[in-house]
Amino acid sequence: MSVSIFNDVIGPVMRGPSSSHCAAALRIGRLARDLMDGEITEVLVEFDREGSLPMTHESQGSDMGLFGGLLGWDTDDERLPNSAQALADAGIQLRIETVDAGDPHPNTYRLTLRNERETHTLIAISTGGGMIEVLEIDGVELKMDGGYHETLLWLSKATASAGSFEGGDIVFHDAGESQLAQVKADAFVSPDVLARLSPLSVKKLHPVLPVPSRKAMHVPFTSCADMLQLDGDRNTPLWQLAVTYEMARGNFTEREVLEKMIAIVRILRKSIASGIAGTSYEDRVLHHQSGRFQEMMKAGRLLDGGALNRIVLYVTAMMEVKSSMGVIVAAPTAGACSALPGAVIGMAEAMQQGEEEMAQAMLAAGLIGVFIATRWTFAAEVGGCQAEGGSAASMAAAALVTLAGGTRDQAITAASLAFQSMLGLICDPIANRVEAPCLGKNVMAASNALSCANMALAGFDPLIPLDEVIDAAKHVSTMMPREHRCTSLGGLAITPASLEIERKLAALKSRSCGSCACS
Ligand code: SF4
Repeated sequence: MSVSIFNDVIGPVMRGPSSSHCAAALRIGRLARDLMDGEITEVLVEFDREGSLPMTHESQGSDMGLFGGLLGWDTDDERLPNSAQALADAGIQLRIETVDAGDPHPNTYRLTLRNERETHTLIAISTGGGMIEVLEIDGVELKMDGGYHETLLWLSKATASAGSFEGGDIVFHDAGESQLAQVKADAFVSPDVLARLSPLSVKKLHPVLPVPSRKAMHVPFTSCADMLQLDGDRNTPLWQLAVTYEMARGNFTEREVLEKMIAIVRILRKSIASGIAGTSYEDRVLHHQSGRFQEMMKAGRLLDGGALNRIVLYVTAMMEVKSSMGVIVAAPTAGACSALPGAVIGMAEAMQQGEEEMAQAMLAAGLIGVFIATRWTFAAEVGGCQAEGGSAASMAAAALVTLAGGTRDQAITAASLAFQSMLGLICDPIANRVEAPCLGKNVMAASNALSCANMALAGFDPLIPLDEVIDAAKHVSTMMPREHRCTSLGGLAITPASLEIERKLAALKSRSCGSCACS
């Protein structure tokens, strides 16, 4: 499926510390709920011992998201922090176990779901930034990313097989004594057709992504090199190329794409304001720091960083909202949610630009994210922090050039330069929370973006094309040990100070949490 700016890069609008944990798990939970027709009495969740989730599922929000998804909630539902209790109140018994499954992907969810009438299994992975892929249902291998209305029909083997279906595609899978027909379309299979096929069983799984997929979808380019070849000497501004891309991907008008991004800009500005006003949450490492920073900045008691100080303020405020379970936008992930909006909104306000210009800058960033997501990933479990913070820096650099009225090629140069400086960045969250060094890495990504934007505007040579930088980051990730890819098994995460903070938070939590639905 083609990447969408609003599905994969700037979004989801969500609560929780990590999009690859919380939002992705929620989407997996919603598909699982649909597989059970909304009736679940028992869930067994299994994580592979060698993966990332045994260490991170609780502290980084997988549990919170998965429980919310099993209850049918949205990624920004205000009840999410209490989803464990809500699951228990709904009478759903849940067990979490660590097993030796040999799963190749570090973020693999193995679910067994039961009610009085039936049992189903589902295996899915979180691929970064809230995106997911279902790999298996009831032991049958398939592919499902949450973009389509998926009708699953178990048919007798005698039923004829075909390759297409009205409004969508159909894929047949061998399901032992029956065959499983997977219909991917922009609507569920109609009752008339169901009556004609007489399936043994039917399941309808709703799309969980904001921009749905459709039949015969075609995007104009998928790599930076392809885009440059297509645009040639026209040197169309990057944000306009982003609009062209998303119009094709989502079947939108130009105005619809801009309005969607303006709506996101408004959410971001609201989040930043609430962060500066003050946030609190018991289970977090860092207290409210942005308010003091703003006081010092206004009093002229900080070093003169120009607009950078306002950017640091906004980055910090956004991170504080995230760690207090407020509403944020994964851009491209929740861990790296603040570098891009902090840079864009901070700089745009300093330049006295409005929401339309902010949205254009965010779209330019979104297109850089499309190139990264298409070639690689935003998942720190796969690529370390270079996948999160590196991507955010690259995207923010292109956005800042766009705010400055720079050219397409200058924006791409800035994106390449910024990403180059982030290669090798490890993921080592202190106390297994997505707060620190995440705050510093977001600040570094935004600062790097500002420097690279100015370097690109001044005509600096990036030497390495953006696509090749992304490929280099991907290659680096294959040589990165598991300990440095969001497992909390290396780097700052295992320092004595980090372990002590984690111990104190656990003690605090056990005092305030009498009962829990998970084990
Ligand atoms: S260190 Fe980077 S990749 Fe790891 S959780 Fe923090 S922001 Fe995400």
